[in-house]
Amino acid sequence: MASVQACAFCNLPSPLTREHIWPRCIIERTPGYNARYVGKAEKFIEGELTVRDVCAVCNNGVLSMLDDYICRLYETQFSRIAPRRQPRTFIFDHSLLLRWLLKASYNSARANHSDIAVLKQYSSFILDGNPIPVRLEVRLELIGPSRNPRYLPGTDNLREIPPESVRCCRIEVPGNPVPNTTIRLVAINSFYFWLVFWALGVDATPLLARLPGKPLLASVDRITVSPRRGMLEVHADWVLNPKARESMRTFRKRNGS
Ligand SMILES: [Zn+2]
Repeated sequence: MASVQACAFCNLPSPLTREHIWPRCIIERTPGYNARYVGKAEKFIEGELTVRDVCAVCNNGVLSMLDDYICRLYETQFSRIAPRRQPRTFIFDHSLLLRWLLKASYNSARANHSDIAVLKQYSSFILDGNPIPVRLEVRLELIGPSRNPRYLPGTDNLREIPPESVRCCRIEVPGNPVPNTTIRLVAINSFYFWLVFWALGVDATPLLARLPGKPLLASVDRITVSPRRGMLEVHADWVLNPKARESMRTFRKRNGS
């Protein structure tokens, strides 16, 4: 029998259900979706992230509606890789997008036991779009493909390495000039959403000025961005590491892709 505890979103005591970090539409279309890169071990580990502290009402209602919205964005926009230095206009519903980004980040935070308190503050906004979140900026960076340094004509090596992966994680910015800030990333193929949170009374401007991408302002439902960085520059830690690449290949083979 499911245990009765407070739901992580609505706080009501209920039997709890399992919620996936990523919606099925994205899981099914991302070959390495449940591989997570562990820098220390220089390899990918398997394990789909789920949490089990969400009531059925939230899970099958609002949260699944937000997943449906992100699946529509996936079909129309995220599935198309952004070529380097070509401006791309992204059209979105600001509130639905932000609610989903916060939901995915909050789920990932609970699964990894980090940043839970920071994300929990936005649980009522995630559920009904109110109140408008404060002390938070969302930025969009587009990542392009990189030329593959190992490309050789006539071999299996691809000419370009495309950004085809999903990631939801905490980011440490080296030399972050502003204490009491939290930075999280939600990446879907070319689309890298940076979420920056700061504590009451903190001026996050010096940090925001150093981050890539453009802010998604609350009043705006479209933005034009050009990819400046490629896959290799962003993920040099594993893309250029032969041990890590071997582990990714093994992983993809096992998953039939
Ligand atoms: Zn609930």
